[in-house]
Amino acid sequence: MSIIYFDHAATTPLKEEVLKEMLPYFSENYGNASSAYSIGRRSRKAIDSARQKTAKAINSKENEIYFTSCGSESDNLAIKGVARANKSKGNHIITSKIEHPAVLNTCKTLEKEGFEITYLNVDNNGFVDLEELKKTIRNETVLISIMYANNEIGTIQPIKEIAQIAKETNVIFHTDCVQAIGNIKINVEELGIDLLSMSAHKFYGPKGVGALYVREGVNFQKIQDGGHQEMNKRAGTENVPGIVGLGKAIEIANANLENYNSKLIKLRNYFIREITSRYENVKINGDLKKRLPGNINFSFPNLDGEEILLKLDSLGICASAGSACSSGSLEPSHVLRAIGLDRNYANGSLRITLGEQNSIEEVRFLLECIKSIIAIDN
Ligand SMILES: *Cc1c(COP(=O)(O)O)cnc(C)c1O
Repeated sequence: MSIIYFDHAATTPLKEEVLKEMLPYFSENYGNASSAYSIGRRSRKAIDSARQKTAKAINSKENEIYFTSCGSESDNLAIKGVARANKSKGNHIITSKIEHPAVLNTCKTLEKEGFEITYLNVDNNGFVDLEELKKTIRNETVLISIMYANNEIGTIQPIKEIAQIAKETNVIFHTDCVQAIGNIKINVEELGIDLLSMSAHKFYGPKGVGALYVREGVNFQKIQDGGHQEMNKRAGTENVPGIVGLGKAIEIANANLENYNSKLIKLRNYFIREITSRYENVKINGDLKKRLPGNINFSFPNLDGEEILLKLDSLGICASAGSACSSGSLEPSHVLRAIGLDRNYANGSLRITLGEQNSIEEVRFLLECIKSIIAIDN
């Protein structure tokens, strides 16, 4: 049975061209980028080139890009790095209730260090309220961290407006951009972003490598001690093949952004149209317009999403559910809870995230599979 993959928000397959570019750095080009001899210099050059490509993709300067081991590390470095370096200014951080665990759990750790965190509410479509944000900012606020786009429901936040508010109040602004990079054109200058996290495996690059953009002049400190790599902000011998892969993947993604975008939007809208016209009681979660191109999140009342997922898996379809089974009862995700979704809907939630290889035939097949699964269930 062939696999139909509809879980691109979880990870994406590595592109053939990206792998090809990485391979020499697993074999003959094994030099340490800090070494002065020729194979060391070759690795250094490869990292420099990847940094250039990454900077170009988001319109930053090269010296504003720091390579990390993943999106989670980028979030940790951004939030802990800024909070700890600016302690003398204050101990208050603002984030939202629908952030990725890499942000939420980092904030939890900082609470133990004496930081106060405000977790902003979101409305029924998953948007933070700009007025609430403004009211929450205090003299002690050192950082605002709001994700660009949500990994579960696809909602895209008003990032430019949030960055503007942060700038006017002299607060540093970080955005977890892991779901947006490779899907949406991001220009850090135009948007006014101070720090931005990304992860290669979410845009057809390798797993285990990420990057953090930090605007020149923003005060942050390292969270891992060791050597002087990455401009003395991220210790550890560089993952040269991974970094090369990230650079190649972001270059390809940016070159094809418009085609990729419009293809995914067409498939997404087709699916949403079909599912809502076939089932009166289905609910689409997240905003219909300000939404990631490939994201579909929907709920059937009084059905078990986990069970539908297992049946889809037995038909060769990879998707994701909005609730996870914990100790025998379904627990809706923190995101679905935050948008106020009724429990009987939240438990019957499915997330489909589309990607490059998906076709209209696959989407039709998915609709047919859902139909047969639901028919059995009812
Ligand atoms: C995947 C993801 C992360 C974590 O990235 P890793 O590279 O898997 O650590 C962080 N934030 C969001 C929004 C994500 O989707």
